[in-house]
Parts: sequence; structure tokens; C-alpha cells
Amino acid sequence: MQTELQPTLDRVTGLHDRTSFDARLNRYAAEPARQLQTAALLRLDIDRFSHLNESFGVQTGDEVLRSVARCLRECVPNALSIARIGDDEFAVLIEKVDAGTARLIADDALRLIQRRVRVADLPLSVTASLGVCELGPERTPLVLALHAAGLALRESKRRGPNACHFFTSDLLQSCEARTELEASLRRALAAREFRLHFQPQINLGTGDVVGAEALLRWADPTRGMVPPGAFISVAESAGLIGPIGEWVIREVCRRQARRLARGLATVPIAVNVSALQFHDPSFAEMISAELRIRDLPGQLLSLEITESVLMRDVEVVASTMRALATHGVRLALDDFGTGFSSLAYLKRLPLYRLKIDRCFVSELPASRHDAAIIQAVLSLARHLEVEVVAEGVETSAQAEFLRNHGCDIAQGFLWGQPLTGRDFQLLLNDVSAPSITQVSAPDAVTPGVRRRRVAG
Ligand code: C2E
Ligand code: CA
Ligand code: CA
Repeated sequence: MQTELQPTLDRVTGLHDRTSFDARLNRYAAEPARQLQTAALLRLDIDRFSHLNESFGVQTGDEVLRSVARCLRECVPNALSIARIGDDEFAVLIEKVDAGTARLIADDALRLIQRRVRVADLPLSVTASLGVCELGPERTPLVLALHAAGLALRESKRRGPNACHFFTSDLLQSCEARTELEASLRRALAAREFRLHFQPQINLGTGDVVGAEALLRWADPTRGMVPPGAFISVAESAGLIGPIGEWVIREVCRRQARRLARGLATVPIAVNVSALQFHDPSFAEMISAELRIRDLPGQLLSLEITESVLMRDVEVVASTMRALATHGVRLALDDFGTGFSSLAYLKRLPLYRLKIDRCFVSELPASRHDAAIIQAVLSLARHLEVEVVAEGVETSAQAEFLRNHGCDIAQGFLWGQPLTGRDFQLLLNDVSAPSITQVSAPDAVTPGVRRRRVAG
């Protein structure tokens, strides 16, 4: 067999190509003695490679591929085969290794790649995700190895970046469940099963409703009302967050414009966006077109992005937000305090608001630590001249503590569960407020707001 004697090589990295790798794997499978040993198959994929290729060009992309290939050769010098089996995907077949050794090799590879692989001369490190499948007696049969390692890789991608996951039979089941959920979500989008609920945001000083957060729900005919936590991550990994997120933004804009057209009062509405949405080059244009078509002041829309997902996307988010800021659309940093090195973002992003995560509010006023954190955030925000919204306020004692320490705005179950669209409209209707012309003449803190006082 020619492929065995003279393996075909990948032009970019000099590693085996997909054909050679398959041939090696088949040859390995054909030798019964080897089937009795334990071995491991690794599949590795570079995190966000297509973004890197688009931003820095194909030559830089090729350099990254070569650099990853060098790391793999260094980590597993005696592998049976190291191959580039897809655009940015690699596979490694290692014989005579047990699970513990495979784990060490995988960790080494990820660490080395993160430390060594660089993008051009920039201080940007590259990471990869790894899926590992153990082979051998009573383990995954070889014919399934590549597929099984692929499922493990998909799981790492979901948890990643820079993650490693081993294949287990549970994974097969959860992958099947995810695949089914993905299909249901596609159907839900076409069947218009998504709904928005609205959580009022209350000015703690006056009791006025000064805004609201739109929260996505899925009205599934069999599962009932499904909360976003149960499907957002699947929507993200299935590439569905773009169309779903676009629906949310269009729906909020449609509702806002309808109220304006009817001469009714409204307040700015915040939409949660996933960092992935910012990678769609047409995201900012979609929003500005929506505002333009509906003749809607951008001040009536704001975007919330969580600190944890922002970590690796801060520049993309910052440039998109600068473009949107020209229309008046503003950015809030969600779940503040739960991510890493949060303070660095405060400088780089055009923020107007920090949202203090519920975990710092729930044990107020008893917890001295949480009280200290909240006071520090409030003082930081005052100096940076950004608003603070406290999330998850459930008791009047919490609201009072926040008010006494100068927190502007809060939201939470203290004022009730998030409202259906209809109930929220009714809440807004029940106002006695200035004329609608104020909507397009925003002031610094709560532009265009018509207010309604609520108890709490
Ligand atoms: P989040 O942005 O932190 O939203 C606040 C979550 O806390 C909501 O859960 C809300 O119902 C809940 N909550 C509000 N007040 C209280 C309270 O006083 N006590 C307690 N225990 N919980 C409270 P929900 O609606 O299940 O949303 C969960 C997460 O899903 C949101 O967290 C947000 O990250 C994400 N999400 C919601 N809608 C969207 C969307 O349209 N797009 C994207 N990408 N993510 C969304
Ligand atoms: Ca939010
Ligand atoms: Ca939040």
C-alpha cells in the first residue's frame, strides 16, 4: 500500500494529511496484537482560528498552524501519527499509553501551545481545545475512535477555550440530547416560538421604572416555557445565537417603535447579547438599520454583555460599540464581579453601566464581605461616572442597603417576576409622564424615560 510506505503530507505543516492518518489508523486496527494494548487518539482544534485568519490574514494563519504542529511534535515525539486532518484540526495517535499518561500529554500540549504560539508580533496568545479518546480492550473500538474523540472535542469547545475533555459513553448520550435540542431550536425559530419577558429596573431613590431588561423565553409546545439558561449555550455552539439574538433585537425595536407610534410612554430596554454576536460583521449594521427603518432613537436600546464572555473578545466588542454609540446605543457590563481582571475592561470599553451580579446582593445586608464589595464597586463607578444597577434584589432590606449606599438602580423579584410583554405594556401605560417628544432628547442618565412609580 503506497500510503503506508510513503505517507502523503500536509503542505502547510509537513505533518501527515487526513488520508495518511486514516491509513495509519486502519493499519493499527488491523493488527490484533495492538488491539490488546491501550492507546489514545487526540483531536485538537485551534480556538477561534477562522477569526484569527480573517483578522490577520492567511499567512499568519499558516504560521500559527506550523507553530502548533511544532508543539505537537515536541510533546509527542514518538506518536504513531501526527496529522492535520482539517483546516485547523489536528489528530494524534499514540500507542502504549494509559489514561493518566494521555492526560499528561494533553495538558502539556495545551500549555505549550498557549505559551509558545503567537500571532505575528502581537502579544496575543493562541489556545486550542482537545478531545481525547482512549483505545484498547474494553475501551472505545478503533472504528469509532475518530468520531468519539470528535465528540470529546466538541465538549471541550463548549466548555473552552483551552479545555480538554475525555470521551465517555455518557458523552454520547448527552451529545444525542444536544443534537435533538439543536434541531428543536431550529424549528422553534422558524415556528416563532421565542418570547420576551421584561424585568423592570427601578430607580431606588424615586421608585420610578427607569428601564427594563428583555429576557428570552422559549415557549416549546412539549417542554413548556423554557428559560434561556437551558438553551443559550446550545444555540451558541449550533451557530443559532446569531438569528435568535437578531430576533430579540428586532422584537425589542418593534415594540419600542410601536409605542412611540401610538404616542405611548416607554423606557430604554436592555438586551442581553452573546459575545459571539459581535463577531458577525453585520451585527452593528443590523442594529443601526433597524433603528433607522423604525425611526427609533438608539437611546431606547442598550446591550448587556457578560464579563466572562467578554474576556477574549474585548477589542471586537469595543469597536462595534463605538460604532453603535454614534446612534446612541449604549453598553452595560453584566454580572460584574464574577469574571477575571474586570478592571482592565473598564478602561477599554465605552461603558455606561455596571450591573452588580446577584451573588453579591443575595446575602446583603448581613454579609460584611458582600457589603464591602458593593461599596467598593459603587465608589469605583462614581469615579468612572458610570451607572450601577444591582441585580437580584429580593428583599426590602437589600434595597434599603443599596439605596443608602448610593446605588442608582435595581432590579429583582422584590418588584415581582419578569413580566410578559403584555403586562409590561400595561405597567408602562399606567404612567403620568412628560410628553413623548422627550424620548428623542435624552438626558445623561435616563434618556427619554417616562416613569412610573412602583412599590418596594
Ligand atoms: P442575566 O442577564 O443575569 O439575567 C438575570 C436573570 O436573573 C434572569 O434569569 C432573571 O429572571 C433572574 N432574576 C432577576 N431577578 C432575580 C431575583 O431577584 N432573584 C433571582 N433568583 N433571580 C432573578 P433568566 O431570565 O433565566 O436569564 C438567565 C440568563 O440568560 C440571563 O442572565 C442572560 O445571561 C441570559 N439571557 C436572557 N435572555 C437572553 C437573550 O436574549 N440573549 C442572550 N444571549 N442571553 C440571554
Ligand atoms: Ca443581563
Ligand atoms: Ca446579570
